[in-house]
Amino acid sequence: MTRERDVILLAGEALGFVRPRVATLGPTGRDAFYQQWLDDGRAGDMRFLLHHVKARLDPRTRYPWARSIVSAFYPYAPPPPPDVAWRTALRGRIASYALGRDYHADMGERLERWARTIEGLLPGVRAAGFVDTAAIFEHEWAARAGVGWTGKHTLTLSEDVGSYAFLGEVLIGADLEPDAPVPDRCGTCSRCLDACPTGAIEPGYLLEPRRCIAYLTIEHKGSIPVALRAALGEWVFGCDLCQVACPWNRDAAGPPDERLAPDLCALVNLDESGFQKRYGDTALVRAGRVRLARNAAVVLGNTGNPAAIPALARALREHDAALVRAHAAWSLGRLREMDRAPSHAALVRALRDPDESVRSEARHALEI
Ligand code: SF4
Ligand code: SF4
Repeated sequence: MTRERDVILLAGEALGFVRPRVATLGPTGRDAFYQQWLDDGRAGDMRFLLHHVKARLDPRTRYPWARSIVSAFYPYAPPPPPDVAWRTALRGRIASYALGRDYHADMGERLERWARTIEGLLPGVRAAGFVDTAAIFEHEWAARAGVGWTGKHTLTLSEDVGSYAFLGEVLIGADLEPDAPVPDRCGTCSRCLDACPTGAIEPGYLLEPRRCIAYLTIEHKGSIPVALRAALGEWVFGCDLCQVACPWNRDAAGPPDERLAPDLCALVNLDESGFQKRYGDTALVRAGRVRLARNAAVVLGNTGNPAAIPALARALREHDAALVRAHAAWSLGRLREMDRAPSHAALVRALRDPDESVRSEARHALEI
């Protein structure tokens, strides 16, 4: 089986996967930790994390034929954003992983080919590939297989790749010799904790997703907590700051890409056909048009730039989603000090909005 194992790993590398490593499936012993994590409410709106809990911790409970797991990095380019002053230019920022075509499609195709190659190498053995949509505790399995270690920011990273990478897995119905985990190289470093603008990274390799900008801008469905809105800074989809701060990513670079800094005034008032045309095949569909517009409204307020007022006033007056109108009202309240008259007029009109959440935000913004 050693020769087949080597060929399996080489086949993964030929498909673009990096550091493919093997772990033997079995209980992780993390049940109590994960249950406490869920009981603490850290899943927030990520209700899918409440499902298939046993399978996340031991995939054999859902895939009883599986014996081994191959886990691997699928790196993405971490291009720097264009050199623009976001407050002046009214530009937001999206996380670098979301650039280009949705990774699920590309990775899914490659993992499918990898699984079929494995089945060809091991006649009668089943194999199945998974991206992050499956109920598999993928960082845990990547650490067990030795793909990398789990950093203090709770992402998987390695000395040679860093952390700018997706994870993919293939379950295999055969016993393959496992690899050894790699040592934790975080040491005394705390750069990711220091860099996080919302304090989402807690001591002890623990993340509070409900404070994380990636969660708030992508997964969180409702109103963004007022106390965290300013901390969003320029981010309209995800956040790269803890990865940018990590010394193991210091060599990562790519060409600047304009798409990382979308025009906020266009984004906040984008209609559905415009959204589909521009972002329909990207990972931004996970957030969808309304949440992206909500985020753009907040970031327009964070610019502190009165040039944002006309786009916010239009969103407050015309947007079909109350969620967006409410956040536009909050941002207009922030900008009121800079250019009082137009913000004031838009907010007074919003006191007659059919939705109470919008009226409430307008009252707060007007301090009445
Ligand atoms: S993605 Fe941003 S908000 Fe989330 S933990 Fe990292 S630095 Fe903090
Ligand atoms: S920034 Fe430092 S503590 Fe955080 S993941 Fe990287 S090495 Fe670990």
